[in-house]
Amino acid sequence: MYHNILVPIAFDHEHDRSAPIKLAGILATPNAKITLLHVVEQLPAYAVSYLSAEFVKSTRAALDEEMDKLASKLPGAVGKVIEGHSGRTILDFAEADGSDLIIIASHRPEIKDYFLGSTAARVVRHAGCAVHVVR
Ligand code: ADP
Repeated sequence: MYHNILVPIAFDHEHDRSAPIKLAGILATPNAKITLLHVVEQLPAYAVSYLSAEFVKSTRAALDEEMDKLASKLPGAVGKVIEGHSGRTILDFAEADGSDLIIIASHRPEIKDYFLGSTAARVVRHAGCAVHVVR
């Protein structure tokens, strides 16, 4: 059983988001803190210049809303969206927040030949806490 569980959530592929969230509920102590974290990859400056401020704002609001919706399915869970680089930022967040378990999906379903996707591989290799990989 774990007290502070981090569940990184990807939106850009056909990742299964429900299995890791369900597992967090099973592996958590009764008063555990559970954080669902989505990392928004930073776009290069030249790409940002083509996007309207309104578009960036509404996309971010939609992400926040989606994370809150996911978190509402699990009592005690909170959703967070932060900017950064997926693998590195998940590891930094886990360390700063004192996570004792990270639950991460191995890769998107269609990539059957790989054991781990690039983000999952980085997290497994460098995390300072337990990592549960959902296949
Ligand atoms: P693939 O390369 O097949 O997409 P990844 O390693 O990127 O595999 O994704 C595996 C898991 O890593 C995702 O299901 C999710 O848990 C996590 N992940 C990937 N990208 C992000 C992201 N931007 N924010 C939070 N978690 C992410």
